[in-house]
Amino acid sequence: MSTTTNPVTLKELKAADPRWCTGCGDYTILVGLRRFMVQRQIDPVNTVNVSGIGCSGRLPHYMNTYGIHSVHGRAIPVALGLALGRPELKLFISSGDGDALSIGGNHLIHGIHKNFNCVFVLFDNQIYGLTKNQTSPTTKKGLVTMTQPQGSPLSPINPVQFALGLGATFVASTAEWMGQHFLDTLDVAYQHPGFSFVHVAQRCPKFNPSAWNHEDSRWISFLEHDNGVPADRKAAPDATVVAHDPSDMAKAFEHANGLTTSFGLFYCQERPRYDTLTLDATEKAVKKDKGSLLDSFAI
Ligand code: SF4
Ligand code: MG
Repeated sequence: MSTTTNPVTLKELKAADPRWCTGCGDYTILVGLRRFMVQRQIDPVNTVNVSGIGCSGRLPHYMNTYGIHSVHGRAIPVALGLALGRPELKLFISSGDGDALSIGGNHLIHGIHKNFNCVFVLFDNQIYGLTKNQTSPTTKKGLVTMTQPQGSPLSPINPVQFALGLGATFVASTAEWMGQHFLDTLDVAYQHPGFSFVHVAQRCPKFNPSAWNHEDSRWISFLEHDNGVPADRKAAPDATVVAHDPSDMAKAFEHANGLTTSFGLFYCQERPRYDTLTLDATEKAVKKDKGSLLDSFAI
């Protein structure tokens, strides 16, 4: 990767040419992430993109930052290791609905619980795309997939409720086709000290074109607050806008249950972080050990 980091430009952040299907929402997530890094002038030399397996897993190859394309569902423990070993690094995790909520569900529970500092981006296309059309945890009931030709029999997991229920300190939802909303969501997520859970509605024209209706915005409801993410009226002119205080957990659950799909900042609350607590405890222990070592030489 490049070592010239000032200023950070879109050109500099480009790496290998992306290889996703035509019209895939992963392109807009990739471009949005690059634009965000330019907007914030985030140094790629101090940035790591970590992913699991799936179409989303390719993202680190396309960003000229450090990157780890890890094991299925295991991006979170890899990122946690980085957070503990190199706390100065900026961590972005890319994970799909299958990777995060099925194979990596256990790690997601503990990533949220440990509340270590990272931006976790959940690419939700409601299907397994890379392995070609299997039912995922967020697949809509009744959708015909390769694994369930009679239609998926279960109601999907709601990722926002899942994160709220686990006590996540930051929960937001956005859509990749709403460029400004996506950027603004990344911005508040990045500023949050802890595990920032960002759900992203993502188009998969290849295997699940009916997942998100990006041409009609009447089904969308934006959650707005001074401390949240502004509604993106340009991208979704027919959406409704609802005032929501992101410190209100009960209301956040209500919005996550709503018949329309809400986008915006659901919940944000600072809490102790495993990474800082662990590093502080380690520093104290090292100091104590050094003290005893010096004591042992004292005459
Ligand atoms: Fe994108 Fe779907 Fe193709 Fe994967 S299978 S690259 S998610 S369109
Ligand atoms: Mg998927």
